[in-house]
Amino acid sequence: MGAAGMREFVHYEIRDRVAVLTIDNPPVNALGDGVWEALDDAVRRADADSGVDAIVLIGAGQTFIVGADLNIFKALRTRDEALVHSAGMHAILRRVEDAARPLVAAIHGNALGGGLEVALSCHYRVALKDARVGQPEVALGLIPGAGGTQRLPRLAGAETALAMCTEGRPVPVPAAADAGVIDLVVDGDAAELLGEAIRFARARAAAGERRRTRDIEISPEARAAGLEACRAATATLTAAAKGARAPLAAVAAIEACFALPFDAGSARERELFVDCLLSTESKALRHLFFAEREAAKVPSISKTTPVTEIRRAAVVGAGTMGGGIAMAYANAGIPVLLKDVSEQALEHSLAAIRRNYESTVAKGRLTREACDRRLALITPATGYDAFATVDVVVEAVFEDLGLKRATFADLGRVTRPDCLLASNTSTLDIDELARASGRAPRVIGHHFFSPANVMKLVEIVRGRDTSHETIATSIALARRLGKVPVVVGNGFGFVANRMLGYYLREAGLLLEEGATVPQIDRALMDFGLPVGPFGMEDIAGIDIGARIRRHLKATGRTWAEGPESTLPDQLFAMGRYGQKTGAGWYTYAPGSRTPVPDPLIEELAAGAAAARGIARRAVGDCEIVERTMTALANEGARVLDEGYALRAGDIDVVYCYGFGFPRYRGGPLFYADTVGLPVVLERVRSYAAQYGNHWRPAPLIERLVAEGRGFYTSEGSRNP
Ligand code: NAD
Repeated sequence: MGAAGMREFVHYEIRDRVAVLTIDNPPVNALGDGVWEALDDAVRRADADSGVDAIVLIGAGQTFIVGADLNIFKALRTRDEALVHSAGMHAILRRVEDAARPLVAAIHGNALGGGLEVALSCHYRVALKDARVGQPEVALGLIPGAGGTQRLPRLAGAETALAMCTEGRPVPVPAAADAGVIDLVVDGDAAELLGEAIRFARARAAAGERRRTRDIEISPEARAAGLEACRAATATLTAAAKGARAPLAAVAAIEACFALPFDAGSARERELFVDCLLSTESKALRHLFFAEREAAKVPSISKTTPVTEIRRAAVVGAGTMGGGIAMAYANAGIPVLLKDVSEQALEHSLAAIRRNYESTVAKGRLTREACDRRLALITPATGYDAFATVDVVVEAVFEDLGLKRATFADLGRVTRPDCLLASNTSTLDIDELARASGRAPRVIGHHFFSPANVMKLVEIVRGRDTSHETIATSIALARRLGKVPVVVGNGFGFVANRMLGYYLREAGLLLEEGATVPQIDRALMDFGLPVGPFGMEDIAGIDIGARIRRHLKATGRTWAEGPESTLPDQLFAMGRYGQKTGAGWYTYAPGSRTPVPDPLIEELAAGAAAARGIARRAVGDCEIVERTMTALANEGARVLDEGYALRAGDIDVVYCYGFGFPRYRGGPLFYADTVGLPVVLERVRSYAAQYGNHWRPAPLIERLVAEGRGFYTSEGSRNP
């Protein structure tokens, strides 16, 4: 138990002959080893206490128990260790459930994961109306591992248990009460909850009642229906889970609840839980969970760094991005001016915003009042009047350095000196904009991703003179907007688009070498991406990339080092910009977003190959995935080595939240570790021999391999 054993994780107190056990492990009462043991001891003590008729279990602070302490799982390396740990949790909860006195869980805040499993092992559950319960383990590639898949279906039935365990979304208490998970709903605060729970527990003791969840009988009809529901869920999830296995494991465990007695079902749950725990999928998802939290930490920025209060905002440029960014502010309740040069552009943008909110209302995901409130927060503007009242401006005009410089010069004049000036530029130099503003310490990049009201990533780009306060304010602000901020350096394309250049380059070359557009897109979607590279360019606009390349060319640079396919610029010259023009890499029927392969692209690719003197050949799906993923890892390693990202995890977070890289693969660098860095290095070297010297190993990868390490592992193993 060590030092943790010195702490009192569960306080013991007697009120009206009821033992009140208060779990106290700030900030969220996570279940660490010390907590499990203290819970076990406290229930045993209460049960043996002659001055006690009933027991109430409650959380200290703002919440019940929010789940397991994930650090415990990190320490479980082998299957046997994991099985022993899981069996230990099962045994403790069986003892808790075997308490001879009625045992009531009193839930406020959240009872999630292991927290709900503890509550399910109590005889009754009393909860505050605004609390939530859930089994969110799938989000970490896990399933409930402390009896949740066996007790929850007994209380709530197959449908509710399947939804909770496979989707992972927490359920509000009133709905959980309807489903049978909660016995009494209390409208009040934590003190009232405790009072009600004590009264409830005393009444059960007086009536001699005590209900063990595991003893609840499942009727033969419910059993048959449960098994049928599990079969249906397996079929749906096999198609929908896109390679993620944890949701299917959750179904298998629930199926065991209906097919087997409690003990055998529990044993099955342990096996499935341990399979998940040791899977690369769960390791990847837990890696991202920690990486995301880590990403908000920046050396030189601390809790004491001043943060500017943001009460009002402005967005300049009401295009695709500007409209989405204004929505992100309105969604967070921050009033925002939306400025464009023309009335017409503004009207167009406001109509698009209204349509977007209306469709959310129609889907039942937003109330009419909230929709109206959000729309009322967005004020259109064609001039800079009222800009002196705002605390932050996000510039989202065309990607044109001259225009952006002029805009920052204006902003330097029309805003207050303490106003934050942020640019949404994808590739341009923040320092140039800072200079133009005359207020460099307050200038920063806020690089949102499209659609900006949906995508969670914001690259926070620090310029040379950006102040600590500006960075700290930007991080806090992005979080307030519900985004995931990652602080990156001010180099071309920052992190996301710099790496993307190498990925797209490789896709273009594969096409010229003989792969087809639909094949490349499908291979990468099978790998887990939401859309392939060509489908993505058709959505984002082929013109955007073309303009970036043109700007680079004028300054003697290229996006990715080495040869690039000439096809994207050919399409640009033909006016094929993608979905917006009805044709790009694919063609689109009017009003449709369904890509239709176009034989013309094949002809263009053959022409480009001939011009380059390449004999076209059949390219396998494996090669498509290997080359694009190797390109991402190799360039990611350079980005890291050159200091444009603070840590490997930041790059994985950027790629997963910015481009929908499959989370269960952990991001491009984590994925490279699972492939094995020596294998990645070998691939780079063999590509160099085959395709040319633009394939050069990133020095960091060479160093890591020489030291026998990976990006994340000290052993460089294939199993981080
Ligand atoms: P867009 O062409 O859709 O919108 C630009 C808007 O700026 C237009 O409405 C235009 O009328 C307006 N504008 C031009 N000059 C102006 C001025 N002086 N004052 C006010 N408004 C002016 O472009 P977009 O796709 O929204 O891109 C905007 C910025 O966001 C660019 O810097 C781009 O690189 C960046 N960005 C784009 C994406 C994307 O996927 N489209 C993603 C991230 C970042």
